[in-house]
Amino acid sequence: MRQALETIPIWDAFQENTECPLCLLAGQVENSFLTGYLEELVMDSSYRKRVVQDGFCNDHLYKLLSRRDKLGLALTLESILMGILSSDAGTLDAVLPDKVQRLGQPSQCPACEHIASFVRQYCQLIVRMYRDEKEFRDAFARSKGFCIPHTLAFAQNVKEGPRAGSNKEAVAHAFELLRTNLERLSGELRWFIKKHDYRLADAPWNGTEDSVARAIQKLVGLRGMRF
Ligand SMILES: [Zn+2]
Ligand SMILES: [Zn+2]
Repeated sequence: MRQALETIPIWDAFQENTECPLCLLAGQVENSFLTGYLEELVMDSSYRKRVVQDGFCNDHLYKLLSRRDKLGLALTLESILMGILSSDAGTLDAVLPDKVQRLGQPSQCPACEHIASFVRQYCQLIVRMYRDEKEFRDAFARSKGFCIPHTLAFAQNVKEGPRAGSNKEAVAHAFELLRTNLERLSGELRWFIKKHDYRLADAPWNGTEDSVARAIQKLVGLRGMRF
């Protein structure tokens, strides 16, 4: 079957054995944004100006810090500090609260903003594929559904627009999958807990070894993710 280029990452994410294909996609978008920022965007002075203005959030500053390339981050931080220091010492008490409020706020962070806009587009694509492609509807049904925050984001993102009425089926399906998979996870956790009884030491894990981490992802999405 011929696939539109833009739908390939979605197909790939739904083939993965994951607790949430949207977490997976958001993680990929984040990763390529941070790489692109350090490799190219940081050299774009008008873009850097925007970053200096708004700043990255706490989570994304630390994610940038964990990258090997420290030069782009040093340039960014130096510009942010210069921005703060350009205010007179006497006005810092007035300037800093506003500055600090913006720095570290996910709503202002260019990385958070970029990811959120991609997630919105992915939700629209997913619902369109669900509507138009039987094969995708089957893949959707076989998946473990989304995490709780992404189920809510999906419902929110597709509830408006010209085809909102026909999107209801996909939203209902997403909530149904969520319920089924929360039940599956609670069963996995029960087995994980039971397995700590010495009498069951030799019983198989039945794939529940990582159920604690997967249950957390189902509840709150991947680490540091914002919705
Ligand atoms: Zn998710
Ligand atoms: Zn951020």
